[in-house]
Amino acid sequence: MIEIEKSQSLYRRALKSIPGGVNSPVRACQSVGADPLFIDRARGCFIQDVDGNEYIDYIGSWGPMILGHRHPAVMEAIAAVMERGTSFGAPTDLEIQLAEMIIEAVASVDVVRMVNSGTEATMSAIRLARGVTGRDLIIKFDGCYHGHADTLLVAAGSGVATLGIPGSPGVPEDVARNTLSLTFNDADAVRKVMDAKGDTVACIIVEPVAGNMGVVRPAAEFLENLRELTQQHGTLLIFDEVMTGFRVAYGGAQSLYGIEPDLSCFGKIIGGGLPVGAYGGRADIMEQIAPQGPVYQAGTLSGNPLAMAAGIATLQQLKKDGVYESLAATTGRLAAGLAAVAERAGVAVRTDHVGSMLGMFFTDREVSNFEDAKSCDLGLFSSFYQAMRQQGIYIAPSQFEALFVSTAHGREQIDATLDAAGRVFAQLARLTG
Ligand SMILES: *Cc1c(COP(=O)(O)O)cnc(C)c1O
Repeated sequence: MIEIEKSQSLYRRALKSIPGGVNSPVRACQSVGADPLFIDRARGCFIQDVDGNEYIDYIGSWGPMILGHRHPAVMEAIAAVMERGTSFGAPTDLEIQLAEMIIEAVASVDVVRMVNSGTEATMSAIRLARGVTGRDLIIKFDGCYHGHADTLLVAAGSGVATLGIPGSPGVPEDVARNTLSLTFNDADAVRKVMDAKGDTVACIIVEPVAGNMGVVRPAAEFLENLRELTQQHGTLLIFDEVMTGFRVAYGGAQSLYGIEPDLSCFGKIIGGGLPVGAYGGRADIMEQIAPQGPVYQAGTLSGNPLAMAAGIATLQQLKKDGVYESLAATTGRLAAGLAAVAERAGVAVRTDHVGSMLGMFFTDREVSNFEDAKSCDLGLFSSFYQAMRQQGIYIAPSQFEALFVSTAHGREQIDATLDAAGRVFAQLARLTG
């Protein structure tokens, strides 16, 4: 048994000063009946808790650590900038550099504004969409998570799904009423709603590859249909690429599927492990943002030099030849391997991956939307989580989260993970008999 006494003692202490002992609900492990690990340090694909236990890390800080922890190029970039100061609240050349890199990478983005989190990016993009269209209604999809802004906390995925919260107290009925949440991958449902009230819908926001209900890829033509329907009605299409941006491809999911949204949101990877978000898109829309236009959005620490430096260094590494091919190959081997060891043990598990985002569902049926994802054997997932952690494998404590593979995950660690999973599935098969 792995001992986690120090983590447990810190957790007890944290519970007195921090709500639930954590600063983001997904970090709590209550839904899988475990205590959270308190982390001491991490390097490459390994993470170490305060009790000195080392794990192979598939959370990667929930997506940003695509190069693994403490990549030398990122550490050096941060150190170099830190010598000159940590925040000026005034423009720096680093902001232009990162903006230019995003614009170069993502075809639909002409202009980009930096913020401090993915939540801020989607919240601001929606305000902008409403500002330029003069409309209030927005459409999202069940099980997609776009951060915790009021308008977007309706049938949301990720931690909201894990805790089984339908909406959230504190979101006024008047606000929630303007958000329509439809079934992911159901283009007919979108067509029906757009036929009826498309001319009052400001935007459709979607995770182009859903990653907050587990990983669910878009059905054939689903994104094309969204593009067509929004164009017909003067509605803006927003791709929330906070997770998928620079993750599934350097140009984001939109480059994989060949769709140009009007606005895109980024976060996670573009901050290289520091707090960053960004939203960008067509120049004629983006010019409506203050101070150029009337739609207000601001931030004391936006474009923070340390975060910009970490983001630039990360993208420079990702831009190199073969990075995404290699990430996808490693992840493909893990996805196929997990499915194989589960099958060998007789446990019903489906795996899929898009680039280095891997999804695992405890079911024998296809999963194409949130209803499907929720109908999986979540109890079995909890047992899987606990047993994997005992084997030194650190995955998210929820089936509604992706596993993230980094460039630091080598063949040896994938093999070790599959060996561990083989033992765990055999154990689960005995338990469920
Ligand atoms: C993580 C995430 C967000 C929220 O980003 P924060 O930085 O946590 O505010 C928004 N959208 C998607 C798709 C995400 O995965």
